[in-house]
Amino acid sequence: MKTILTGIRVNSELTLGNFLGAMVPMVRLANTHSADYRINIFAPDLHSIISDIDGDLPANITRSLKYYLAAGLNLNDNIHVYRQSRVPAHSELCWILNCVASMGDLSRMTQYKDKSEGKESVNVGIFDYPVLMAADILLYDAEYIPVGEDQFQHIELTRRIAEKFNKKFGDVFTLPVEPKAQIKFMQLNDGLRIRDLQNPEKKMSKSTASENSKIMLSDTPDQIKKKIMSATTDSVGKIQYDMFNQPGISNLLQIDALVNDIPLQDVISTWAGETHYGDLKQKVAADVATFIDNFQRKLATISDDEILTLLEAGEAYANEIANNKLHEVQKAFHLR
Ligand code: ATP
Ligand code: MG
Repeated sequence: MKTILTGIRVNSELTLGNFLGAMVPMVRLANTHSADYRINIFAPDLHSIISDIDGDLPANITRSLKYYLAAGLNLNDNIHVYRQSRVPAHSELCWILNCVASMGDLSRMTQYKDKSEGKESVNVGIFDYPVLMAADILLYDAEYIPVGEDQFQHIELTRRIAEKFNKKFGDVFTLPVEPKAQIKFMQLNDGLRIRDLQNPEKKMSKSTASENSKIMLSDTPDQIKKKIMSATTDSVGKIQYDMFNQPGISNLLQIDALVNDIPLQDVISTWAGETHYGDLKQKVAADVATFIDNFQRKLATISDDEILTLLEAGEAYANEIANNKLHEVQKAFHLR
């Protein structure tokens, strides 16, 4: 059985963009494939500590895992949920792979360059996390890892590390599928980017300082209304989908389609010929508030205990698979 693997960092609350762009598609993917694929969903707590944690780490982990269930994940025996740090093989394989990966390759990672740019001091974790990511993937022979374009380079790196290792020691690791082929297989809408409400030329990001730029999954209807009513638009005066010239309005149309789960084209047609931006904002604010309210209601029905039970089973499974793979690697290096 092939493995699909996914994890979202648990540093902070998620935005509506993270939810619609990453979590909902992942849940759809898992629900479509969990009869014939292993689905590993892990909380990358070790990746999270490379930067500051907003809130309480254990609480963030529980909340993030509840999100998958609230987003409609249908659990079955092929779905495994675990915390990265509870499977020590991740850290140990990371160290061993550090002795395989090259400095040159890691120094070329765009994410590292972006995250370290202009900083006086950067922790080693920010430089090395792609190797930990390689360990996360290779321990489980995972072939499909649904990630955005910003992570493609890390999948390529994982493939290079695995190839180098296999060349020397035989076929220990399964290479993840090339990023472009992954996107095709998973039919994810990779281009989907919810925009920043204040600066719609940019994407919405959870780390953006301005509160009015982003909708958080914990926002109240009043907060949502305020943020959407003050969203930046344009002076064109027509409600139409034109991401280049009218990114603010186009973003609102896009959001409305997604929260109502209807084709974007239908929303565009509904507003064709309309000119009052305020009407559109009011409608979108109401729809997003309803969407988040429904989501929060579902969330409230999922208990911490339910998550803990899932984690216990998932971690027993993950340790078994990961330790077996680690043992093969240790033997290759004569560590065992
Ligand atoms: P940060 O500001 O910390 O980088 P972020 O909001 O960009 O936070 P990430 O942790 O980088 O979130 O990404 C988590 C997932 O959410 C990724 O799969 C990413 O592709 C997706 N994602 C992030 N922002 C958006 C967005 N605005 N629209 C759609 N998907 C998004
Ligand atoms: Mg990001």
